[in-house]
Amino acid sequence: MSAAVAPEKKKLKTPPLEIHYLGDRVLRSPAKRIAKVDDSVRQLAREMLQTMYTSDGIGLAAPQVATNKQLIVIDCEPDEPANPPLILINPQIKSYSKEMCDAQEGCLSIPGVYLDVTRPKAIEVAFKDEYGRPRRLKVTELLSRAIQHEMDHLSGVLFVDRVTNSLALTDELKKHNFSVSAVRPMV
Ligand SMILES: [Zn+2]
Repeated sequence: MSAAVAPEKKKLKTPPLEIHYLGDRVLRSPAKRIAKVDDSVRQLAREMLQTMYTSDGIGLAAPQVATNKQLIVIDCEPDEPANPPLILINPQIKSYSKEMCDAQEGCLSIPGVYLDVTRPKAIEVAFKDEYGRPRRLKVTELLSRAIQHEMDHLSGVLFVDRVTNSLALTDELKKHNFSVSAVRPMV
């Protein structure tokens, strides 16, 4: 990660991009592969990071800012200025662990809503970095979960679609004024 792409980790008065919320159709259309990693892609990644830091998130996918591209940004340590964020372009999961784990998730597109989701504990992911270089990472725990959550956005899937406790789901969505009919259950 070069300083040219990664912005300073701070909150801006006005984030450069607007985040879209559950119920908005832009969140439901599958994202397209990025054919060429150029300055416009790097600029988008930078603005997505600025928007993510401003909104107190640890991950953001391009469809959340109404951009139909396979680009996600992640920073599990937003309070550590020295640790660079991750930019994943055209990510593909190469393998999943058999072991699953439950943890609470939230989403900048569904503010205030936190619910348990079961996912594979570890994954191997292949992607291009912000300079178009192919990379592969084996990740586990929070980073694995964050990448899986953000990659779901690229397929138009939201974490609430994966929540199996429908009572808790209905309750939590109502509490935060989201419509339960915006959920597309996966099971
Ligand atoms: Zn999300």
